[in-house]
Amino acid sequence: MQNDKRQRFEVSFRSIKYPRLEFKTGKLLLVLPFGQNPEAVLNKHKKWIENKERLIKDYMKEAEKKKIFKREEKEFKELVYSLIKRDCEELKEKVNKIFFRKMKTKWASCSKRRNLTINTLMKFLPDYLIEYIIFHEIAHLKERKHNENFWKIISKKFKNYEEMEKELFIYWFLIWKEILF
Ligand SMILES: [Zn+2]
Repeated sequence: MQNDKRQRFEVSFRSIKYPRLEFKTGKLLLVLPFGQNPEAVLNKHKKWIENKERLIKDYMKEAEKKKIFKREEKEFKELVYSLIKRDCEELKEKVNKIFFRKMKTKWASCSKRRNLTINTLMKFLPDYLIEYIIFHEIAHLKERKHNENFWKIISKKFKNYEEMEKELFIYWFLIWKEILF
């Protein structure tokens, strides 16, 4: 049991105060303050880790059924620009600058200065998920936090937003597996 547990995670020591548990690649990464014992952290968060691992296993299984989309860079950018324009009109918001960058932790982000950063890995997603992400980011110009008000704005256009969020996880793992490794 111990041995097989050992292969299931990786450890990275950094100068931080509290341990962090990440599942960005589908495999558990323990980010620990120097000197901390991995086993102690694993034991403390055992339940949480097990639940997360079960969920990820399901997602990985779903990922096998999905295909990565092939899209030209130019076509992708045009789609993103047109969606931003459409959603800004719809939500009566204005974007400052738009950046495209390959990111390893999120699909997109929006800053306090109203700049949007789009993860170029989004080009591997189906249209409807790109649509969802863009609308989600523009909605953040209205409401920065993922609170009740935010999800109210989202659910007006995407009643099935929970399904969208789940699909984005599945594609995230798929892209990690097929593109980034
Ligand atoms: Zn968000």
